[in-house]
Order: sequence, then structure tokens, then C-alpha cells
Amino acid sequence: MQAMTRPFHVRIEDLKLRDREPRNDVPPVAALTDGGKAFFLETFGCQMNDHDSEKVAGLLLSRGYQQVETPEAASLILYNTCSIREKAAQKVFSRLGEYREKQSAGKVIGVLGCVAQQEGEEIFRRAPWVNLVCGSASYRKLPEMLGQLEAGNQRVTGLDTDTDETFETEVTRRDNPWRAYLTIIEGCDKACSYCVVPFTRGPERSRASDSILREVRQLAELGYSEVQLLGQTVNSYADPTPRRMRFSELLLAVADVQGIRRVRFTTSHPSDFRPDIVEAIERQPKICDHVHLPVQSGSTRVLRAMQRTYSREEYLEKIALIRAANRPIAITTDVIVGFPGETEAEFEETLSLLDEVQYDSLFSFKYSPRPNTPSLSMNDSISEEEKSRRLAVLQDRQRGIQSAKNARLVGNRFEVLVSGKSRRDCQWSGYTTSHRMVNFASQGRELLGTYVQVRITGVTPNSLAGEHVT
Ligand code: SAM
Ligand code: SF4
Repeated sequence: MQAMTRPFHVRIEDLKLRDREPRNDVPPVAALTDGGKAFFLETFGCQMNDHDSEKVAGLLLSRGYQQVETPEAASLILYNTCSIREKAAQKVFSRLGEYREKQSAGKVIGVLGCVAQQEGEEIFRRAPWVNLVCGSASYRKLPEMLGQLEAGNQRVTGLDTDTDETFETEVTRRDNPWRAYLTIIEGCDKACSYCVVPFTRGPERSRASDSILREVRQLAELGYSEVQLLGQTVNSYADPTPRRMRFSELLLAVADVQGIRRVRFTTSHPSDFRPDIVEAIERQPKICDHVHLPVQSGSTRVLRAMQRTYSREEYLEKIALIRAANRPIAITTDVIVGFPGETEAEFEETLSLLDEVQYDSLFSFKYSPRPNTPSLSMNDSISEEEKSRRLAVLQDRQRGIQSAKNARLVGNRFEVLVSGKSRRDCQWSGYTTSHRMVNFASQGRELLGTYVQVRITGVTPNSLAGEHVT
């Protein structure tokens, strides 16, 4: 859960669309007209959702709202949702239950994101106190929708996914003062049989390269030194301008922007991962030495059932490409256990893949059947208990790999972008270019946002410990 806090005062009148005729037939939603100008935005889910929330917040701030820390202080409560796994979607309805009484206090309640797209108007039936349901492909129309609420509409929806527009805003409210996220491709054209994203985020749309580079230059001028390019399949980027910049060329062009010191990108799809990306990393040290390359399963039969478009062997060829680079590149992944029909032997193939690849870190999930997806018609016969067992075995195996890998880093020096300060004296934290978290000691005073050299003195499976060296 994440609450954002920066007040910004502008008149509510600015929210109204110039060409909109006021409606007299329905009483207006009280909160947005009786001087209410404050929004509370809560975000669940992935980095894309976090960044969408930053853009939604920027849009609202530029149009006259102030952002507040509690739903109580807000006239507009927005909930940016995730539906990637069942538990995430369930959380939305229980949270909406908590908001029920708030609407009776005259507040306007909106559901954004993947659950909004997936459940659509069903949300109004299950939670009639909700006023706005808007999927991510319709965020560009948010100001218009807010205008409709002001004009008296009690129920407003934005559920189109049939769009070639990307969600760009003039103002983005960014939560991290050093690392800026930038969506370069929205939606997804892959069709993994377990995944809701193609349904909730719509088809793939790439943002124009000149617009991306313009924003990166602005970010650098504002003092951001690290940018992370985002997309569900970020490396499927297809520049819609006549320039037709390849993804690897875009990485190099972003790194060339004066003031930018680190360029990250996530998530890469193995099928679109080609040698030119590794060549770009080799050529330009500002492109971080980290690739997140979700495998999902180590079994070719399961990968086929998942419609992942590559075999175990083809995936391992991509890994070999990365491992052959002239500087070490960290590799992380996502794995799903308990996909319908996954046998014990197939699960063991995933374990052997972990041994073979030696990932630096992984995210692991129990398979969760999702609405509209092809795998919903497959028999989800593996019990919850067995899925949990496989998850625990997998995580245990990976913990061992990470402990051994991290232990070999003791004595090494890394550059760390300092992003955290502990309450304990002289203790700081930050990330290496390979996205390893480092906690370290330093007598330095103003380290936040700076790049420092740290020598590693100790490790855990998930982080490194060290001391500042000059
Ligand atoms: N686009 C990315 C890719 O292709 O790998 C990942 C998108 S998804 C937001 C993040 C991860 O959630 C996936 O890599 C997958 O491991 C997991 N995931 C997606 N759908 C799932 C499901 N139905 N059950 C369990 N895990 C799921
Ligand atoms: Fe979902 Fe597959 Fe697209 Fe990733 S590539 S978002 S897992 S459909």
C-alpha cells in the first residue's frame, strides 16, 4: 500500500472542461462541487501501476486538486488496482467495503486499473457506492470523466481498450526523487494462457521515441540521474515514428542524455530478447548490468501450455547470450509453480533450470486461475497445499543459490546510488547497477541521492552489507 503526500493548491474550476455543458437533471456529486478539492490515491500492484498512479496524481494536481494522506481528508478517493492474481482482486472488494461509509459522507470513489477493466460495470453492482470505474487504457479521458462527475453523473466509466493512445501527461508526480520511471510501451500483444494483462491493459502501444527522449531530457534537468524504462514486454518496443528506433538504440540514446547516469529497463520478454540489447549494455556502461527475464517454467511442455513462445532450450540460449557479455550482467526472473497439469518431474525441471542459470534473484508465484484467460478452461487440479509446497521448495533452492553467489561478492567494490537512510546513526542503503540492495555504514552527512563506492563486508541471501570507501 502506498499513500502519496504532496499538497498542491489550484482552483477546482480548472477541472471543468471548457466545452462541457452543465447538466441540470441530476444533483451533482457533492464532494467535487462544494469546495472539495483533495484526492487520496492508493496503489496496489506492479511498477507499471505505481507509475500510472504518478501520472494520475500529476494530472489531478495540474488540474486543481491537492493530494492528501488519508481517505478522511479527501473528497475524491481513488484506488488503483491489480488483478494479476486472485488474491489481489479480492483485496479490492474488501477495501471497497471499507470505503462504503465514506461515500455516504459525500465522497467520490473511483476504481482504476486492472480490476476496473476486468470487472467493469459489475463493480457498480457489487459496490453501488462507487462512482467511477476506469481501466488504464482510458486514463487520458480521466479529466473528462471527472468533469462528468462534477456535472452530476453518479456513475462514470472508461473501459475502452480499443485504443492506440499511450497515457502521457504534461505533469507527472514522481515519488522517487532520484529514479524516474517512464512507460515506453503499454499493453501486451503476447497471449500467455494464464495472464490477464492483454485483457486489462489492452493491445501493445509504443510511445514515440522523440517524446520519450524529450521527457528524459526534462527529467535530467530536474535532477533525476536514473531512469527506468517500463513495459510489460519493454523490449518489444516498436517506435511508431519514421525514425523506427530499435529498443537497443533507444537505450543508447537515453544513456546519451546529459545528466543521466543509469538506465534500467523492465520487463524483457525472452522471445524478443536479441543480441543487440546485450551489445548496447556492453558498449554503454550507463545501461545497467541487470536483465529481468521471466522464464515462468523450466519445462518445455509447460511453457507450451502457457503459450510462452519459447522452449527451455531457446530460453537458455538467451541466457548464454547474456552470460557471454564482456561485463557480468545480473539476471533475475519470474516463476509460476502449479500451472495446470504441471507434474512433479516438470516442477523438477524448473528447479534444475534454477541450478543451471544461477539467477541473482527471482519472484515466484503459485498459479492463480484468472477470468477470460485460456488456462481457465484447463483443470486446475494441483491442490493449494501442493502449490504451496512447490513454492517453498523453489524458494528454498533459490535462497541457497543467492547465499552462495552473494558470499562470493565479499571484498568487492560497488557503486551505490544512495536512496535510504536508517534511523540508526551512520547507516545508509541503496542499489548497485546490478540492482543489488546494499546496506552500508558511512560517516558522510548528505549522502541521499549521491553515488558512493561501497566495499562489501557481509551478505544475506537478499542483500549485501558494506562500508563506504573513498
Ligand atoms: N510481462 C511480464 C512477463 O511477460 O513476464 C510479467 C507480467 S506480470 C505483471 C508479472 C508476473 O506475474 C508474471 O511474470 C508471472 O510470473 C506472474 N503471473 C501472471 N499471471 C499469473 C497467474 N495467473 N498466476 C500466477 N502468477 C501469475
Ligand atoms: Fe502477461 Fe505474457 Fe504479456 Fe507478460 S508477456 S504481460 S505474462 S501476456
